[in-house]
Amino acid sequence: MENTDQDLIDKIQAGKQRLGRKLMILTHHYQRKEIVDLGHYRGDSFDLSQRAARDEEAEFIVFCGVHFMAESAAILAKPRQTVQIPDMNAGCWMSDMADAFLVERAWNEVAALVGENHITPLVYMNSEAAIKALCGRHGGAVCTSSNAGRAFDWAFRQKEKIFFFPDEHLGRNTANALGIPADQMRVFDPEKPLGGNSEADIRRAKVFLFKGYCLVHTRFTLDDISAMRTKFPDAKIVVHPECTEEVVKASDAVGSTSFIVKYAAEAPSGSTVIIGTEIHLIQRLALEHPNKTILALKESLCPNMYKINLKNLLACLENIGKTNVVKVEDAIKKDAFIALENMLSL
Ligand code: SF4
Repeated sequence: MENTDQDLIDKIQAGKQRLGRKLMILTHHYQRKEIVDLGHYRGDSFDLSQRAARDEEAEFIVFCGVHFMAESAAILAKPRQTVQIPDMNAGCWMSDMADAFLVERAWNEVAALVGENHITPLVYMNSEAAIKALCGRHGGAVCTSSNAGRAFDWAFRQKEKIFFFPDEHLGRNTANALGIPADQMRVFDPEKPLGGNSEADIRRAKVFLFKGYCLVHTRFTLDDISAMRTKFPDAKIVVHPECTEEVVKASDAVGSTSFIVKYAAEAPSGSTVIIGTEIHLIQRLALEHPNKTILALKESLCPNMYKINLKNLLACLENIGKTNVVKVEDAIKKDAFIALENMLSL
């Protein structure tokens, strides 16, 4: 007979008890509620990478999130720790857009024109280890949506230009918040020669934005905002910085997943908060704050995050340390570690 969800939950709980402090289950905010409830810690990619980096006790880290997150945890983990992901196919579309060959070619083209001493690479956490390694090798850092502003400030203290990979929108929204004029930002389309720019454009620009995006967050539109403003004129609208610039500008607040969690928690009782991010986080916030009306700007689900479920989490615990172990080649690990460490010390 098929296991019911409750059977699976009971077995996972028993596995947690059996493994005790040897086990740490990390769950991203976009995971289904039942997975988040079973984790030891929940957080955004920054919180979880810090957890993985700081932990001394756990031998087995099970990462309920997408592959680049588990890979970052594996880079930061101690040699005696193993990192597993319940489904190896839980990837990320944005990360896939930044193919290592295309990123390296883009970096080389721009660095050759402006001079490597004048530009710092910054890479969003949502990228594969090889891209993080490229940043580490060239004096750059990783960032997340919670510390992108600080990472930009840090990079500008090193050199006068930034190449930001792979989220065009997070890069632009961060540069806008720092007051960088639009004509000093250039989108770099890896499919076009010089990214679709002239040599003069490249020499003049201050920030290069690699043309990648999140399909979950770019689904929100100005029409969604107008429709919600008409229906709920007193509501506040908060969105994630992976949304487009026009959506960010039309909202009341913008911030990382952790910022959104705090925004919902601090909203006055009886108020309405409309959120533009992954639907599972919004649904959980609505349950956690029954004294407020928490609504989705539009339903937008990340199918990659959704690949983690009770069955594959249980399979991971039953094969602890053995299956779906996330490994990173030593050479890549060494350089990617530098870029991640630069982020953690920001
Ligand atoms: S929400 Fe977007 S950026 Fe995040 S894992 Fe899913 S596809 Fe990638």
